[in-house]
Amino acid sequence: MRKKAAQNHLAQNHLAQNHLAQNHLAQGHLAQGHLNFDALRIGHGSDVHQLVSGRRCVIGGVEFPDAQVGPDGHSDGDVLLHAVMDALLGATGRPDIGQRYPPADTAYKNADSSLLLSDVWAEISGAGFAVINIDCTIICELPKIAPRRVAIQARIAQLLGISVECVGVKATTAEKLGALGRGEGIFASAVVLLVRS
Ligand SMILES: [Zn+2]
Repeated sequence: MRKKAAQNHLAQNHLAQNHLAQNHLAQGHLAQGHLNFDALRIGHGSDVHQLVSGRRCVIGGVEFPDAQVGPDGHSDGDVLLHAVMDALLGATGRPDIGQRYPPADTAYKNADSSLLLSDVWAEISGAGFAVINIDCTIICELPKIAPRRVAIQARIAQLLGISVECVGVKATTAEKLGALGRGEGIFASAVVLLVRS
């Protein structure tokens, strides 16, 4: 029984320490004056586009002029900015880009997705949200993302008015597996953390 009591005591002590640590963290953040845990929102977005020849190739707001294929779509098909928009919209409980910019609406034919992202961000930042950080992943065989990875990072940071170290951009291939692996399409996902002031 004494052993059990000691274990209980240890467990409670551990719990109390965790609570104190969390409290300390929260106070630290509050003391910095920019974070309130109740105001944090996380959002996730993902998108896929077919890659076809004869299409302009824009990914993450950056042109790939030497690409042999480009993302098909009603707008410019910028798969990464679409994922970023859906992450922002999702974090704030807003309808996704398919509802916001319906493909049937001719106004969005070949639309510049940078302008659409600016429109989304104007509304969300206007509602009092700021981006803490954003992290993106692109999966495709071609085009090669690495040479323009930093340019994409800078473009997304510019569109959202944040510094480049708050934007993660990663790219990988599908290891030749499935449609993505055969180079028939491109996939992108984004996770964003927002704070409401
Ligand atoms: Zn899309």
